[in-house]
Amino acid sequence: MTGINKIEIAKDNFTHRTTCRVCGSEKLHKFLSLGPTPLANSFLRENQLEAVEPYYPLDVYFCSNCYLVQLLDVVSPEVLFKEYAYVTGASKPMQAHFTGLVEDVIQNFKISEDGLIVDIGSNDGTLLQCFSKLGLQTLGIEPASNIARLAEAKGFRTVNEFFSEKCAVKIHEEHGNADVILATNVFAHTDDLEGFVRGIKYLLADNGTFVIEVPYLLNLLNNLEFDTIYHEHLSYFAVYPLIYLFRKFNMEVVPVHGGSIRVFVQKAAKQQSQRVTALLLIEQEAKLDSLKTYTKFGEEVYSLKEKLVKLLKALKNEGVRITGYGATAKGNTLLNYCKIGTDILDYISDTTPFKQGCYTPGMHIPVFPEEEFHEDPPDYSLLLAWNYANEILQKERKYRQNGGKFILPIPEPKVI
Ligand SMILES: [Zn+2]
Repeated sequence: MTGINKIEIAKDNFTHRTTCRVCGSEKLHKFLSLGPTPLANSFLRENQLEAVEPYYPLDVYFCSNCYLVQLLDVVSPEVLFKEYAYVTGASKPMQAHFTGLVEDVIQNFKISEDGLIVDIGSNDGTLLQCFSKLGLQTLGIEPASNIARLAEAKGFRTVNEFFSEKCAVKIHEEHGNADVILATNVFAHTDDLEGFVRGIKYLLADNGTFVIEVPYLLNLLNNLEFDTIYHEHLSYFAVYPLIYLFRKFNMEVVPVHGGSIRVFVQKAAKQQSQRVTALLLIEQEAKLDSLKTYTKFGEEVYSLKEKLVKLLKALKNEGVRITGYGATAKGNTLLNYCKIGTDILDYISDTTPFKQGCYTPGMHIPVFPEEEFHEDPPDYSLLLAWNYANEILQKERKYRQNGGKFILPIPEPKVI
């Protein structure tokens, strides 16, 4: 039997902060509550279904002083990242993305021949590999012990720690300054941003560059991507709060990319680039500095939930079979927030072996291999991996030719 356990808020392994993690202000306004919710990547084995599942508040706040959108309930990183399941090398789109990133860095900045490249959250070394191919020295920092071992086995020097000021001092003693430090999937996950940046400043060469990549807040707001909000993601950045943060350390944000934002940060204060000025203007026009923007977003998310649940229930009443497509972390935010369980979805199909045979956190929907989806196709499938919608529609065109339909939940529930 599957079903939802009694909801119990975890008593330990998380803290609630009362100040903004960028500017320290207490002018924080809650504009969206998605929880309480279990951790988005805590898939359960069958024998864990009856046990108490820890739930944590999932509330989103806006700081009216520096405009950072953030979570204040911080789940211990030890719980979230010590045994991490996501391996970068396994993802083809990620590899292509990294190749572009490396070109961008090499073209824009001069790196000395024996320069050191440090990657924070280096995972299995996929990004570092692109640099070591160019003959550069590399060093990875990866807190997940299982993944750090994997990287070491592939020949990448890896420090198995969370990055901090202390960690930076230690690395500096042993390896000297870094020409480039990268944080492509870790900055938004960090609670102590000040300690992190102090560490960066200490380790980075005076003419070195710190490269950050984070999802862009404006996309989240415009596309109603509320399901990308989960406990691992503590900050939802726009350019303005990033500039605010680095100015405290006399560091300057240099050029910026669209989509997810790629930010180059340097020590030498230069004039603000035109690109930054243009982006700040866009953010101002989008009213990212106004609480009203976020209150409206919260209302839209609630209305999306109502529409989606109504659509699914209407279909279910017609007697159709519905499954979920892709057992993603963001899918778990959506399922838990909308309370979509096995009364609606028979199962979720997914290609990731370690998720197959497990149950989703909170709603306890079984995860089956994708063969199940192909062998006995459902009438409808809720696309939980909507960020790969184009690839999936292409891959499953036979399913659709045979009358199968997908339900796209975001930004507006839609049957395709
Ligand atoms: Zn703030």
